[in-house]
Amino acid sequence: MLLGHLAKFSRQTTSQLFWRTPKISSLNARWFSDQKKIKVGIKMESKEALRARLTPLQYQVTQEAGTERPFTGAYDKHFDKGMYVCIVCKQELFSSNTKFDSGCGWPAFNDVLDKGKITLHKDTSIAGSNLLFLIAHPERIRTEVRCANCAAHMGHVFEDGPPPTRKRYCINSASIDFIAAPGADN
Ligand SMILES: [Zn+2]
Repeated sequence: MLLGHLAKFSRQTTSQLFWRTPKISSLNARWFSDQKKIKVGIKMESKEALRARLTPLQYQVTQEAGTERPFTGAYDKHFDKGMYVCIVCKQELFSSNTKFDSGCGWPAFNDVLDKGKITLHKDTSIAGSNLLFLIAHPERIRTEVRCANCAAHMGHVFEDGPPPTRKRYCINSASIDFIAAPGADN
């Protein structure tokens, strides 16, 4: 009788534990996401403030990883001397010295000003929900480029650029702003 009671108790405890686990995890997940929001809040403007400050296209590209239509951006055929900065946080990212005309319809750079100024991420969005597509075509996994300071989406980097780096940073005009070099006769 007692043993049976204990077994029943133990079964209940075990099942309660199992039931509790997801609740604890979701609590933790909420806590982490709250912490993340707080952190982001200190470091960056709110989404609402960004929406008010940026154009709809700049917001869509930088905050929702959108892509402007090719050959439409302000800096596609722009070759003045100066610096290209993140449109969101104004961090300097690319120099006009590394800009080239790739013919692809977006501003292209051979190199980034400093590797620490960007972060790279595997972008599988091209396959939509069809992951089998990516297993069959691993070469279609693109490398996304984000601003390391504010995480704004910039564009993608490809390995088909000119020497010396062979890189092609394909960047949306909507993600960047141009600061002319002092004294440059543009
Ligand atoms: Zn930034």
